Amino acid sequence: MGRPHALAIPFPAQGHVIPLMELSHCLAEHGFKITFVNTDFIHERVMKALPDDSKNKNQIHLVSIPDGMGPEEDRNQLGKLFECVSRTMPSYLEELIDEVNESGKDKITCIIADETMGWAVKVAKKMGIPQAAFWSASACLRALTVHIPELIEAGVIDANGITRKQEIIQLSSTLPVMNTTQLPWHCFDDPMLQQTVFHNSFTNNQAVKDADWLLCNSFYEIEPSAYPLNPNLLPIGPLLAGSRQRQLVGNFWEEDSTCLNWLNQQPACSVIYVSFGSFTVFEETQFHELALGLELTGHRFLWVVRPDLSAEQAATYPDGFQARVADRGRIVSWAPQQKVLAHPSIACFMTHCGWNSTMEGLSMGVPFLCWPYFADQFLNQSYISDVWKVGLRLNSDDNGIISREEVKNKVEEVLGHEKIRERALTLKEMADKSVSEGGFFQEEFKRFH
Ligand code: UDP
Repeated sequence: MGRPHALAIPFPAQGHVIPLMELSHCLAEHGFKITFVNTDFIHERVMKALPDDSKNKNQIHLVSIPDGMGPEEDRNQLGKLFECVSRTMPSYLEELIDEVNESGKDKITCIIADETMGWAVKVAKKMGIPQAAFWSASACLRALTVHIPELIEAGVIDANGITRKQEIIQLSSTLPVMNTTQLPWHCFDDPMLQQTVFHNSFTNNQAVKDADWLLCNSFYEIEPSAYPLNPNLLPIGPLLAGSRQRQLVGNFWEEDSTCLNWLNQQPACSVIYVSFGSFTVFEETQFHELALGLELTGHRFLWVVRPDLSAEQAATYPDGFQARVADRGRIVSWAPQQKVLAHPSIACFMTHCGWNSTMEGLSMGVPFLCWPYFADQFLNQSYISDVWKVGLRLNSDDNGIISREEVKNKVEEVLGHEKIRERALTLKEMADKSVSEGGFFQEEFKRFH
């Protein structure tokens, strides 16, 4: 018999490609051959972002298939993307699997599909290949989507996921409370998109509920009461290949690793790391307020400003800002985030609370400042500040703006908060234990592979 050969297929978004790539690296280290299937569009971006000297050194076999959208179409239009992907990709995937299996090399023995690509689990079932669904968010969020029928029946949401009144709900007494107007699908302004995201959650749940494995990038200790609500869900996190691999192949932007040299020159525990993931967009007023807030703190900072972070064409900074902070502020367009968070000079992490960023900050023991933007980020904020107590929320003023004074005050508060620092280190120890021999990650991971 040949080597086990897994085909991994992520949803085409940065926060989905990275953790599935990390899982793929873990499996490759355990003897698996991996074929990693991006869409053509994402594959091109990933290859472009990869430094030349890493292009041929990858242990993962990278391939791609079309996503069904035209070359110029906007992939940030999620409704369109969902529709095109689920309409056109199943047949391309089937063709690809046939091609690999008929090539005379190792046949595909397992498919690992992002849960958002529930159709891929169906393709695998149809072809008689064992399947794993991979959930890239918290177990608590999955519990919420699994319980959609009960929420409808209780009148909390209607059949389209819409809530008419603001209500606080809690799935169990040790899980974070959720505001019904901030449920993940509620955050989209476009009602059609809201419904697409809502119905997709439900359809994908159905599609993957009989998958052979259901995996998630979390670990048991941080959300124990979510598992009884999620039959069969196997927590195999924290997945942190990016902190040890020389190069994680999956970034959509080229990493600026020179910031690591800059961090080497900063005192221990002195730098605020500011990063809002791959989707967050800032209006100019808020962007300026944040810049002036960072200046006002007087602290060193490393700030990720993606080329598309600003709602306007290109980010413009307040007059003279860059010159005034040049000796203590570093701005990059994409950072090697896991390595940055693991660096001893980092004092706290100002984040949009995406699940990957949350897991990364938690695993490195860094206190958080929470600035959620959309989707599950409000729920993750609640975990961070109310349940785990490893960070603070940034609050907006009456005009919906997080002011420069709020930025300064919360930075001061989190840096001086001994209890938060202690808790952050305790959770880091739990994460370390989970990935060490005999720990939860190792045990659950063995059960999977
Ligand atoms: N990330 C990175 N460099 C950056 C900013 C983000 O490598 O400068 C990575 C980060 O480590 C995480 C992912 O991008 O793995 C973002 O995922 P997350 O779930 O936090 O947010 P999303 O982008 O999905 O909103």
